[in-house]
Amino acid sequence: MSLANQISSLECSTTPPVALHASKTLDPGVLLGDSTEAISPSSKIQLERGVSRTARLYALRQLMLRAAVPQEMVNSWKVEVSDDATVVALDNARIRFWHAPATFWCDLVDGRYEVVRADWPCPPTKQYSYLVPNFVVPFVDRAYVGPLFVRTSGDTWECPIDLLASMLLTLSRFEELQSNERDLHGRFLAAQSLALKHNFLQRPIVDEYGLALQQVIQSLLPGWRPLERKLRVNLSHDIDETGFPRSISNSLGHTLKRRQPVATLRDLVGPAFGLRPSLLQAVLRITELSKRHGMASALYWKNSPKSDWDSGYDLSIKPVHEVVCRLKNEGMELGVHPSYYTFTDPHRLGDEVEHICEVLGERRVGGRQHFLRWHPRTWHDWEKCGLAYDSTVGFSDHIGYRAGTCVPYRPWSLELNREINLLEIPLLAMDVTLAYYMRLAPEESVALLLQCAERCKIVGGVFTLLWHNRSLLDPNYGHAYQTVLSELKFSPAFVWKQALNSGQC
Ligand SMILES: [Zn+2]
Repeated sequence: MSLANQISSLECSTTPPVALHASKTLDPGVLLGDSTEAISPSSKIQLERGVSRTARLYALRQLMLRAAVPQEMVNSWKVEVSDDATVVALDNARIRFWHAPATFWCDLVDGRYEVVRADWPCPPTKQYSYLVPNFVVPFVDRAYVGPLFVRTSGDTWECPIDLLASMLLTLSRFEELQSNERDLHGRFLAAQSLALKHNFLQRPIVDEYGLALQQVIQSLLPGWRPLERKLRVNLSHDIDETGFPRSISNSLGHTLKRRQPVATLRDLVGPAFGLRPSLLQAVLRITELSKRHGMASALYWKNSPKSDWDSGYDLSIKPVHEVVCRLKNEGMELGVHPSYYTFTDPHRLGDEVEHICEVLGERRVGGRQHFLRWHPRTWHDWEKCGLAYDSTVGFSDHIGYRAGTCVPYRPWSLELNREINLLEIPLLAMDVTLAYYMRLAPEESVALLLQCAERCKIVGGVFTLLWHNRSLLDPNYGHAYQTVLSELKFSPAFVWKQALNSGQC
């Protein structure tokens, strides 16, 4: 059966598989503070019989996308999945992906696996050799591998490790399902991740496998050239605060914390002159900056009651709604930023999303969870709400590639053993992470962000940055943001509607 047919039957499939089982064991994990009751227990995945055939086909399609192989070309190739290997037949040639032995899966769920560094199949060009000196492959059954692909005969290449399973586990956030460790806000942190522990959080490891596969395909089909892909930049802004309800302490903070007395003055005397609060004005400024640099912005709005973790502004009050309408008329993307307590509460999430969409006058939107409170099961909740995309999958405490990728993708649920009808646009960096968690100086932040964008560029990915309107009021970080925009100016945007309609994801 061709890969296209197999994938389309996979997408229609709603039958839960037998290969994956979510245990019902409840475990509160490491939690502190008042937010504990809202945090979901973890649910460990058992992989007694390995990953399913449909899951392997999903991973194979993700790999082909990252190798920039045209869809019609992939569709013409035959794929056979046996117990031992997945074999792709292209004309008279073969690419064989060996599967891990049956004994490996119990070791994997018990945490006994290796993270290997594999070599290039052929010497890389200078363009790649510095940023991609090798390939990092987690969740494998051996400590040494050699090249990621090996030519075993004139028309056959083989991947000696279970690369497809490794990709699947990385993209679906397997380790986050297995771990009970969470911070005060119920978040899995970079500090707990395999990527930080093994020093590969700064690498889009899954996307880099596509570069190795390109070498293999070019060797088998000498006339073939991968599709050209460019860096896309995705500027996003979670509007946590608008300056409403008005607060003296918040206004004074502009001077005391951010050395912006003009902003404080604006807040204090502005109401008499019909001026917007500084935080709301900063929303307009942040979009002005995007336009000035030939870029687009996505703004994610809240509409929730005040809580210890939510400012509690009303999206429908006149000054806020005027800004929303103005941005909409200017063609800016508007999306949702569900509040703190929507995490693990799909009903609350659904109510908020419905209300925000009503005020925004939008039917199909994407967005991001407040505080980056996210668990692989959050994908299920977002799918149920009919949201088009999520952009939460980035760590709060460290910038980098949480899911090993900067290429937007439809996630795979290990619990449901199917693809989720939702696009994930991975978040790579957030202002708060740089300034608060990593405690970097503005100039260090700029250097790290541009390095991250460079890595996106070589794999043709999307550099997704979160910058809050509040950060624009800080002179140092506001300036750092403008420096980053100047370096990336006129980079094309990632247009998610186009990507979904064209089947690129
Ligand atoms: Zn937020």
